[in-house]
Amino acid sequence: ELPCTIRSFSEAAGVSVGKVLGTMMQMGLQGGVNINSQLDLESAEAVAAEMELTIELKATETLEDSLISELEDREDGAETLVPRAPIVTFLGHVDHGKTSLLDYLIGINVVKGEAGGITQHIRAYEIDKDGRKITFVDTPGHEAFTEMRARGANVTDIAVLVVAADDGIMPQTAEAISHAKAAGVPIVVALNKIDLEGVDENRILTQLTEHQLTPSEWGGDVEVVRTSATKGTGMDELLETLLTVAELNEYSANPNREAMGVCIESEQQGDRGVVAKLVVQNGTLRVGDVLVCGSAHGRVRAMNSTLNNEPMTEAGPSTPVSVMGFDEAPGAGERFHVLDDITKAREIAQTRAHASSQESLSGISTKVSFENFQEM
Ligand code: GDP
Ligand code: MG
Repeated sequence: ELPCTIRSFSEAAGVSVGKVLGTMMQMGLQGGVNINSQLDLESAEAVAAEMELTIELKATETLEDSLISELEDREDGAETLVPRAPIVTFLGHVDHGKTSLLDYLIGINVVKGEAGGITQHIRAYEIDKDGRKITFVDTPGHEAFTEMRARGANVTDIAVLVVAADDGIMPQTAEAISHAKAAGVPIVVALNKIDLEGVDENRILTQLTEHQLTPSEWGGDVEVVRTSATKGTGMDELLETLLTVAELNEYSANPNREAMGVCIESEQQGDRGVVAKLVVQNGTLRVGDVLVCGSAHGRVRAMNSTLNNEPMTEAGPSTPVSVMGFDEAPGAGERFHVLDDITKAREIAQTRAHASSQESLSGISTKVSFENFQEM
């Protein structure tokens, strides 16, 4: 089905709307049509033939549809798949210790530097536990998690639900539980701040059970790990638990194909240009690759580790990486794809930019293309 209106047909064909409508009327096609009515491909071709115009499908919309969906839909044969690191997201009520846990695990202290203790950025780091990797994502709140999902970017394999032992399940904890369940990802509970005096563990386990998260020690299937992000308690156990869940789920990907994945954050950084934090989900991303991500495109000029900013030449499945080379900052949650040709990438990016500006102009959410037809 082609999103083409009488108006766009007349503009593209260079004939007046009146003439198009007149022709349609002669052909008996007018039934209730107006300037904004949609023309399907068959009618458009018939009208064009009647007016002795030759029309050609312009490749824009089709290029995106065919190239991107071919990449998305291409199945990787079982023989191409290798295990990949699990991508783990911390979820939970504000101040329960999400950022502190990640800080401890990667050995840096971001919490102290945060304005008002509120996480500003979406962070993503890969850590190494005795040669086995885990990728962690820390977000300012589950809004970011939800928004990414809403854009079709399911970046998380496992959710760590952080519950402060002194507070128990709070409103945002409950929301996080429903988001994780909606995403269909396994949940591991980090019962954090276990170092505080007078915490009542049973109270929290009861609350978890009431939210259909029955702890394994109570016969359920949810692992509850006691942690203290300030003392370092339970860190090994948390990592081991995550690796066990990962093994059970056998996350895998094909490192020998064009990279694709998700942009989790991006910004314009003065003379470095656009720096985008990407998480590769499949394939391997390399310096020099041509990328398209939302309405941004470009060639990977440089890649750096998100952890220590060391230069990287390639990033395989589940690897978070800072990428320079986009012409504009892609949005959080946009999927990225590697293409073999910068012209195609530019064309797809422009089509998307055009479609979204038309959307915001007209206030409608369906994609409208004004360029499907071109005079030959
Ligand atoms: P977030 O909002 O979930 O990211 O929480 P933060 O990591 O920013 O932590 C909020 C506050 O709780 C900070 O002051 C941390 O130092 C403190 N905190 C985090 N984890 C622990 C813990 O295990 N024990 C104690 N006592 N305090 C903690
Ligand atoms: Mg935080």
